[in-house]
Amino acid sequence: MTLRVITRSARWIRMLAATWSVLAIAAGSPAAAQTDLDSKINSNLPSWLATYKHFHENPELSTQEKETSALVAAELKKSGYEVTDHFGRYASPDAVSYGVVGLLRNGPGPTLMVRTELDALPVTESTGLPYASTVRVQRPGGEIGVMHACGHDLHMTVFLGTAKMLAESKSQWSGTLVMIGQPAEETIQGAAAMLRAGLFTQFPKPDYVIALHDSGDVPAGKVAYVEGPILSGADSVDITVRGYGGHGAAPQTTKDPIVIASEIVVMLQTIVSREMNPLEPAVVTVGSFHAGTKHNIIPDDAHLQLTVRTMRPEVREKVLAAITRITNGVAQAAGVPADRMPIIEVSKDNVPATINDSALTKRVAESLTRAVGKDNVMRGKPIMASEDFSLFALEDPKPPTCMFWLGASDPAKWKEAQEKGTQLPSPHSSKFAPVPEPAIRTGVKAMSSTVLDLMKK
Ligand SMILES: [Zn+2]
Ligand SMILES: [Zn+2]
Repeated sequence: MTLRVITRSARWIRMLAATWSVLAIAAGSPAAAQTDLDSKINSNLPSWLATYKHFHENPELSTQEKETSALVAAELKKSGYEVTDHFGRYASPDAVSYGVVGLLRNGPGPTLMVRTELDALPVTESTGLPYASTVRVQRPGGEIGVMHACGHDLHMTVFLGTAKMLAESKSQWSGTLVMIGQPAEETIQGAAAMLRAGLFTQFPKPDYVIALHDSGDVPAGKVAYVEGPILSGADSVDITVRGYGGHGAAPQTTKDPIVIASEIVVMLQTIVSREMNPLEPAVVTVGSFHAGTKHNIIPDDAHLQLTVRTMRPEVREKVLAAITRITNGVAQAAGVPADRMPIIEVSKDNVPATINDSALTKRVAESLTRAVGKDNVMRGKPIMASEDFSLFALEDPKPPTCMFWLGASDPAKWKEAQEKGTQLPSPHSSKFAPVPEPAIRTGVKAMSSTVLDLMKK
C-alpha cells in the first residue's frame, strides 16, 4: 500500500514536471509571442485609432511636414528610441528637411530599417468621413485641399505602433532597429535628402530595409506580397522640337515644328508596341504638347513632356535610347539642320523601379503568414506607380529591401468590386478611405512580426 502510494506520487510528480516544462516551452514559443502581441495590440488600438484620425485631419504637403514629424519624433521618444529630427539635406541648401530617425539598440545582431512616409497630397478630400481633412492651401490656380490621399497617415500609425511593440518586446529580439520617418515621398525628394545627409553612414548601416504601402486592391485585414519588381521606375523627359517659324500661309519658307513634333508623338507609340518584348512592362506617355500662339503663325519650336515607366534598368535604357533615336530621326527626316536638332532632357529627379529582394521577400511572406494567417496573405501584383523607396536599395551597402501591400479597402465593397468588375478608389483619389480597423491592427501585427522574425534571438 505504502509502496503503491509512493509509486503513484512519483508518477504524479513526473507528470506534473512534464506539464510544467511543456508550459515553460509554450511561454517562450512563437505562438505565445503572437498571443502576447495580440493582447498588446488590443489594448493600444483605441489610442492608435485616435492617432490615425489626428494625422488624417492634419495633413501636410511634401517638404512641409513640420507638425507631423514633431509628433512622430515625440512618439518614438516616448517609446524609448534615441531620436534625431530634421534629418536630411535637399538639393536646395535653404530647404529644411523634416526627416526623423529613431534608433533602438538591443545587443548584437542585424540592423533593420523600417520606413514610413510623412507627407500628404494636394487633393481636396471628398470621402465624406467625419474626420475628413478640411486643410486648404493657396496655389497659383486657386485654393486646393490637402489630404492624406496616399494613406501615409495609416503608414505612420502602423509605424509608431510597431515601434512601440518592438520596444516592449526587447527580450524577444536582438540587434539594432532604425525607424525612419521620411518626408517628401510624393515629390520623390525625401529619400534622396536623407541618404545625402548620410542616413547609412551617420547611423548603423542596415542589413535590411522594409516598408509597407496601403493598397485599394487588397481588402483591410489582409496583406499581400510581391517578389521582384513591385513598383516601376519613373523618368520625366522634356523635348524641345526646333524648326523655323514663319507665316502660316507660306509653309515652304518654314520648318514646321508642330508637324515634326506630331510625328514624334505618333512614332513614340511604337516603342512599347513594336520594340519591347510584350512580356516586359513599359509606358511612354506624352502628357503635354505646347506650341504656337495664333492660327496663322508657324512657331519656331514645340515642347513635349513625357513620363516614362519601366521595371528594369535595361528596359529603361532601351526606352530612353529609343526616344532619343526617334526624336532625332524624325527631325532629320524632316530636314531640320544639324544646329536645330531637338533638345532632349531627361530629368535628374527620376526614380528606379522598386525591386523586392527575392530571399528577403520569401522570409517576409513566411512571417506575414505566421502573423495574420494563410487566408489573410495574398500574392499581390506589381503596379506602374513609382516610389523613392527604391533608392535605399542602391546606396552602399545596397541592402536587400522589401515593401509589402497592406489591405485598406472595405472588405464587403472589395468583394462586390471583384464580382462586378468595378474599380474601388485607389491611393491619390479624393475618395480613397482606408478602413482603419482592421487595417491598423493588421499592419502592426504584420510589421512587428516580420521585424521580430528577422531579428529573432
Ligand atoms: Zn502617393
Ligand atoms: Zn504613398
